[in-house]
Amino acid sequence: MSQCVHEVVVVGSCNTDFISYAPHLPKEGETLTGTKFETGCGGKGANQCVAAGKLGAKTAMITKVGDDIFGKQFLESFKVNNVNRDHVGVVKGVSTGVAAISVADNGANCIIIVPGANNLLSTDDIVAAEETIKSAKILVCQNEISSDVTLAALKLAKKHNVKCIFNPAPAQAGMQSDFFTTPDIFCVNETEAEIMAGLTVNSVESANSASKILMKSKNCQSVIITLGSNGCVYQAKVDDEPVHIPTEKVDAVDTTGAGDSFIGSLAFYICRFPHLPMTEMLRRSNQIASLSVTKRGTQISFPTQAELPIDLM
Ligand code: ADP
Repeated sequence: MSQCVHEVVVVGSCNTDFISYAPHLPKEGETLTGTKFETGCGGKGANQCVAAGKLGAKTAMITKVGDDIFGKQFLESFKVNNVNRDHVGVVKGVSTGVAAISVADNGANCIIIVPGANNLLSTDDIVAAEETIKSAKILVCQNEISSDVTLAALKLAKKHNVKCIFNPAPAQAGMQSDFFTTPDIFCVNETEAEIMAGLTVNSVESANSASKILMKSKNCQSVIITLGSNGCVYQAKVDDEPVHIPTEKVDAVDTTGAGDSFIGSLAFYICRFPHLPMTEMLRRSNQIASLSVTKRGTQISFPTQAELPIDLM
């Protein structure tokens, strides 16, 4: 039997977040004085990988960064968070992906992402990482890199019978059918569900309806829709009714990256506790993500194994 070298393999983005807080968002042409500034390693791919790594999963990231200070910070962050870097490419003369984020006092935000090196991750890089993908227990992909590369990774994983979670975030309308049918788990939040199922999703009931559409019309293999403080709904099979898995009420201080914490946790449970029922894995993932929203920041707010209550291990 081949040895499993990496439990969770993530193919996705690295974006350095530059977050400015201000009383309101600037209008066109307006210069505003902000109240606070923060920076940190982000990008959905890196976040989900680090979330699983902090819980103790053996993880590997397939990504590209630039040969700048931000690329160096990602390499360091992966090192300290249990993430293998063999397939983290450093591209000369290109900037690491960045996300310039403005957050207003009322929580409204606007974001400009410049993908930089993320755009240079190619299908050749996926072919070069075949052994790593083959060795995984689960592959996780999102929508922040070229869709050709994501699809190549999902298909390669399927070729080797490696389970896949696809988190199509940010949502893109008109995705080709393979993105729905190839992954074992299609995981979206309310906004993404709304765009893909074509109906308003703002309650458990509407999420149930969206899930059924994704299963029946788009032929997803299974669907998870995360619902913020309402937890998530899960549908395992096309003829099953979706199940609601609520989460505990917490005092949320920063929900940035909650979905990434949830997906990283789910990947961790799938490979470390494969015999747990899926609903129990989702209950635990909900709880871990709810812990992350009680702390400020993104990756820094994801709990480590040592910080978890005993019933979550
Ligand atoms: P995203 O961050 O992608 O928008 P959600 O907002 O749906 O995703 O959050 C993902 C998960 O994080 C939820 O399913 C839930 O487990 C947890 N979560 C998010 N917001 C809260 C909250 N306010 N209270 C408790 N748990 C939360």
